[in-house]
Amino acid sequence: MFSGKARKNADACRFCWMCRHLCPVGLATGRETNTPRVKGLMVSLVERGYKYTAEMAADMYECCLCEACTHDCATGFEPPLFIREARARAVAAGIAPPLVEKAIANLLEADNIYGAPKTERGKGFEAEARSLPEKAPVALRIGAAAAYRRPEIGAAVIRLLKAAGVEFCLIRDELQTGSELGDLMGSVGEVKAAAQAAVAQINATGAGTLVVLDPSEARTLIRECGEWSCAPKAKVVTATAFIAGLVREGRLKPSPLALGTVTFHDPCRLARDLEETGPARELIAAMGLEFREMFLHGPMTTCCGGIVLGAHSPKLTALTAARRRADAARTGASVLVTACPGCLDVLGGAKAEGMAVEDIFVLLARACGLEACRL
Ligand code: SF4
Ligand code: SF4
Repeated sequence: MFSGKARKNADACRFCWMCRHLCPVGLATGRETNTPRVKGLMVSLVERGYKYTAEMAADMYECCLCEACTHDCATGFEPPLFIREARARAVAAGIAPPLVEKAIANLLEADNIYGAPKTERGKGFEAEARSLPEKAPVALRIGAAAAYRRPEIGAAVIRLLKAAGVEFCLIRDELQTGSELGDLMGSVGEVKAAAQAAVAQINATGAGTLVVLDPSEARTLIRECGEWSCAPKAKVVTATAFIAGLVREGRLKPSPLALGTVTFHDPCRLARDLEETGPARELIAAMGLEFREMFLHGPMTTCCGGIVLGAHSPKLTALTAARRRADAARTGASVLVTACPGCLDVLGGAKAEGMAVEDIFVLLARACGLEACRL
């Protein structure tokens, strides 16, 4: 049984088909089952007694939970709500795709979606982190995407905070917030327990401010943990907002970077879920970069696919990422900048054709003369 809220959402559609033009997965594959509306129809069918098959469950995973459909549906329809419930049911019934099961096992056993050994975590910023205390007024959470895949971003953020004179500690051996696990198996008990353990670890630092590098984790700590009554005691701030504040206060003084024209990919967790679009653009302006917006930007951003989809459907993610890079190329810019380690991994992963993909903090560290970040 789906919850009343999920059933109401699945049945609320007015068949205007606007969401069909917005879904990055539907646009990348051209498959009708990859429209938010058809996923709703499948839920309605199951609620009316139709068997929930492994094939339907696989379709429920062909979605990056980007919420573009929610943002633009005239009826207030929220497909991610019932898609998450459908995933919870698929996992409970043992009909989730094998690669989804593998990603869940990685998260439960290794605390990261890549299944990397914990000894690999943060290897690229160990030297930067060594001198940092266990407790401080500000705590920094790097997140698994940067810790395992893009350590140069973690190194850049640590260097920037040090250069600005911020009194901060690094949360070492971070426990997962449950953000990726929740995307894979819905808001079930294991996910809430993971979030509670991560919040207890954050609270133990005694920090009054928590700076979160990964936008997906920031969303979970701000939004879901609030709903689950386990919000951190510290004020949660995204790394983009915190570091833009340091530039505004004159504590970081970037020099102009000679990089050509850049465009910016708004991570959907940041721009749509947390409604944050200004700080990244402030940082780009502070580096003196010539800037062109993509047609779909800010809260209208198009998802690159993200690391969760990438973990279980890499071919599909290659398609969504290629579409987003094509959006960027249409601006005429030569560099695509983003502010999410996961987006950088996805957009820059498969040999970004014709366009360099850069992380905003790595660029800022370079503009601030922290040259060791030029990895
Ligand atoms: S935008 Fe909303 S109302 Fe229109 S087809 Fe999609 S789900 Fe239905
Ligand atoms: S959340 Fe994004 S990927 Fe999923 S159905 Fe909606 S628009 Fe498509």
